[in-house]
Amino acid sequence: MDNCIFCKIAAGEIPSRKAYEDDRVLAFYDLEPQAPTHILVIPKQHIAWANDITPENSADIAHIFEVIPQIAKDLGFTDYRIINNCGDQAGQSVKHLHFHVLSGRDFTWPPG
Ligand code: AMP
Repeated sequence: MDNCIFCKIAAGEIPSRKAYEDDRVLAFYDLEPQAPTHILVIPKQHIAWANDITPENSADIAHIFEVIPQIAKDLGFTDYRIINNCGDQAGQSVKHLHFHVLSGRDFTWPPG
């Protein structure tokens, strides 16, 4: 999608530090890490937010949740937090669906 920064990262038009890539999914390190390890996992196809997950595109989202444990295994961690911010009030700043994977420190619950 035009003017979507994560589409441009997925297309290689904007550089990123990749953690994992296949034909449907890209994982790359967040520019402003909130934990010792902070990776963003995105579907390569443009899905704006979690509200746009449908039976037609949900296989890619399921695939993301297969990829995340593989990334954790490859990077050598077992404990992590997965976050999706859906919408402005939840803190979604980039309107391309992404899952934050954070690891390497303690996390509080409930979140702020
Ligand atoms: P959210 O606020 O949930 O939409 O998360 C967007 C995340 O994208 C933030 O944690 C940003 O630091 C991160 N981010 C924005 N632009 C880039 C970029 N070019 N490369 C890596 N991470 C980015």
